[in-house]
Amino acid sequence: MTEQSPALQNLLTENRTFPPDADFSAQANAKADMYDKADSDREAFWAEQAERLHWDTKWTQVVDWSNAPFAKWFVGGKLNVAYNCVDRHVEAGFGDQVAIHWVGEPGDTRDITYAELKDEVCRAANALLSLGVRPHDRVAIQLQMIPEAIFAMLACARIGAMHSVVFGGFSPTALRSRVDDAEAKIVITSDGQYRRGKAAPMKANVDEALEGAESVEKVIVVRRTGDDVPWKEDRDLWWHELTGAQSTEHKPEAFDSEHPLYILYTSGTTGKPKGILHTSGGYLTQVAYTHQNVFDHKPGEDVYWCTADIGWVTGHSYIVYGPLANRATQVVYEGTPNTPHEGRHWEIIQQHKVSIYYTAPTLIRTFMKWGDEIPAKYDLSSLRVLGSVGEPINPEAWVWYREHIGGGRTPVVDTWWQTETGGIMISPLPGVTATKPGSAQRPLPGISAKVVDDSGNEVPHGGGGYLVLDKPWPSMLRGVWGDDERFKETYWSRFSSQGYYFAGDGAKYDNDGDIWLLGRVDDVMNVSGHRISTTEVESALVSHPTVAEAAVVGASDPTTGQGIVAFVILRGSAADGGEQAVQELRNHVAKEIGPIAKPRQIMMVPELPKTRSGKIMRRLLRDVAENRQVGDVTTLADSSVMELISAGLKSGK
Ligand code: ATP
Ligand code: MG
Repeated sequence: MTEQSPALQNLLTENRTFPPDADFSAQANAKADMYDKADSDREAFWAEQAERLHWDTKWTQVVDWSNAPFAKWFVGGKLNVAYNCVDRHVEAGFGDQVAIHWVGEPGDTRDITYAELKDEVCRAANALLSLGVRPHDRVAIQLQMIPEAIFAMLACARIGAMHSVVFGGFSPTALRSRVDDAEAKIVITSDGQYRRGKAAPMKANVDEALEGAESVEKVIVVRRTGDDVPWKEDRDLWWHELTGAQSTEHKPEAFDSEHPLYILYTSGTTGKPKGILHTSGGYLTQVAYTHQNVFDHKPGEDVYWCTADIGWVTGHSYIVYGPLANRATQVVYEGTPNTPHEGRHWEIIQQHKVSIYYTAPTLIRTFMKWGDEIPAKYDLSSLRVLGSVGEPINPEAWVWYREHIGGGRTPVVDTWWQTETGGIMISPLPGVTATKPGSAQRPLPGISAKVVDDSGNEVPHGGGGYLVLDKPWPSMLRGVWGDDERFKETYWSRFSSQGYYFAGDGAKYDNDGDIWLLGRVDDVMNVSGHRISTTEVESALVSHPTVAEAAVVGASDPTTGQGIVAFVILRGSAADGGEQAVQELRNHVAKEIGPIAKPRQIMMVPELPKTRSGKIMRRLLRDVAENRQVGDVTTLADSSVMELISAGLKSGK
């Protein structure tokens, strides 16, 4: 047997584990035997999961993979996604249950029951029909986190139209490219949105974006801030006038299991966003199954809160489709976490007795930076499951989260997945898994993933390489909108002889065979022939008590090939310690993972460039580290961050 060189060095070790609590396990939805059951007959397992939905016509085949990589799930089945998320709960007698506790940024609130949700969705569906929207038509939605965003998405699903949700904070250019790519017929937006206590215009941006956009027939505007907006008489309609005039009755039509549900563009962390296509039956099955088991969700008992934006896939799968299919009662919050104060999330959890909270590492590290004393002021005892998604979570942030938010008591589930996978793929199961800070651990029952080397061979325990998905899964993407070649090229060409889906992420197995995500393959650094992951060096930095956040890139280096350059944000209480602090951090990394990973350079910065979904954009930092003109910043949450960083570096701060 030939020795395969690992695609990634495996450096950082983490030995803490948290076994499940016996009382929790006794009541948990997930059971340990699900893994074996799913392994022994995957198709039977998924067929059983699909039974949680209402099918108007039952499928005849679980999966058809004969035309790989184009999958069909629950072939021949027919269902209505919106009916499954709304009407059937009302019909089952839960019309009075609150579906959404909506919390506006300025403090206004609205509780929406399932019966009210049904009325709102039906009105919106009738409104879209009245405008001539038909199955397969595309509707672009650029809205902030207001209930109408959810009504609009479900209304599209109900009539078989596809939505393409665009982040509320995106620029006119970003909106326009998505509207054009999908040839959207309708755009739904609002007059303006509250951001950090101020009303910012939205409609005016949309008008700018749609200048000369040929596909768009109508623009529907939700009134939120009440500010004056420019108006095009022949094109624009107020949401409240349009939907207010409609009936609350609408008979849902059953669509094919493979009927397209939506297009969603990826975050653009690594390059030009891709329009990911998702369909109906398999998608809804997997998001409902994962939402129930990964979060141990109990309808009618739990209060669930996913802090994602609706413009991100997490908002689609774990605010709209999964939770509503499972009859969740959930909090939807419009605003930013520090408006009007840095305890806003904890205040909301205390008030609504939130029991399941799902957020992103970027926010957890921000909370750490703001200080332990802020969450300590609130009663968080209702929490029983905490989740994380979006980036690898640094072990220190994981432990902080469990300790300071979860009271040292709650399971923490680190969920790995992508826009492309549609639903959670790798995650611990609360009540079953002994969790490890920083590791997503095992593919869920019914899911198969491997870590492989350059030639596609699985690496041994302790080894590192590329994460692949070696078997089709129900909520997998069905393509890249309008670009089959890009679909095949991006995901299926790297390991085409094995037929594996290439996720683009680096990963390793630990000695127990648990999976650790190591960041983007594009971001892997090569230092004197050693392939080092950005995640491990960042986690080593974050494990130092003065560091709140760190981003690491490989910058070209005449002697070592690449040198490690770190950008570090210090914690609230830590002063900028100058050269001495830099030396201490360099030595800390060397001690934690070895001298090879010692950063060549460490720069203290006030902020890091992040996408709107909260991911660090390392490619921009690489531009800074290599003294280049900074690249495309259109999907950045705040494009001024790059100027702040560059200016700070020039002035030597
Ligand atoms: P683009 O593909 O356009 O660059 P993106 O990959 O950031 O954008 P998403 O689909 O939102 O768009 O993000 C998926 C990626 O997020 C994963 O490939 C992975 O890199 C990262 N990720 C998500 N959850 C986790 C997690 N729990 N642990 C580690 N990484 C994660
Ligand atoms: Mg991606």
